[in-house]
Amino acid sequence: RRTSEAVMTTDATTRQPPRWVDFHCHLDLYRDHAAVITECDRECVATLAVTTTPKAWKRNRELASRSEHVRVALGLHPQLVAERASELPLFEALLPDARYVGEIGLDAGPRFYRSFPEQERIFERILRSCAEQGGKVLTVHSVRAVRKVLDHIEAALPADRGRVVLHWFTGTPAEARRAAALGCYFSINSEMLRSPKHRKLVEGLPLERLLTETDGPFVEVEGAPVRPVAVSDTVRDLAAVFATDKVLLAGKIISNLRALVSAA
Ligand code: MN
Repeated sequence: RRTSEAVMTTDATTRQPPRWVDFHCHLDLYRDHAAVITECDRECVATLAVTTTPKAWKRNRELASRSEHVRVALGLHPQLVAERASELPLFEALLPDARYVGEIGLDAGPRFYRSFPEQERIFERILRSCAEQGGKVLTVHSVRAVRKVLDHIEAALPADRGRVVLHWFTGTPAEARRAAALGCYFSINSEMLRSPKHRKLVEGLPLERLLTETDGPFVEVEGAPVRPVAVSDTVRDLAAVFATDKVLLAGKIISNLRALVSAA
């Protein structure tokens, strides 16, 4: 009896619950990819390592295979669709192994607008495959294309067949309400909270649908690529936006993550 108690105690102390959430980070674009994973585990940051091409999946999975807090998402970034559309078959071959999917989505910004019809074709196809397989959690890019993104989600991915997190959402309050009604979550980064307009938008989002993210290394803080541990600063800033306590909000975000993952 003593032995089994000792084993359980050891188990409980080695498996640390997450303290923070970074639901969208490009870990493989940091020069010290493996060190960032170690940091996420040491600081207990539940981190979703998004990828931009399905060719990156294998290496990301290998590096995160022993991590307690890092999960890898299978992606095909809308900004890369012009060059990488031919990787869709590889994406589909890997999808059954992927619980998390992203970065995917649509980008109607001027640099990527030309590939928009192809982006839509690929996004639609990915959503349908996710719906067929069920149980996936998606992190979705929607730059200048929120309405289109929501149209595709509404048409192809019912909430009981998969869950969507809108990453770096910058739509209108009406679009935010539509997204929430479709079951979407929102992951908030430090850059979003710097703009008064977007802070106002964030303030109107449902608290039970909020997560945090860094979108590192694309987002920089004081001239250096932001790292997943910095989500604690975003929780502090979000707590100010919602006039609540940082510790309470950190707990709320962890419980939102649990609800998201268990619903999917
Ligand atoms: Mn990203």
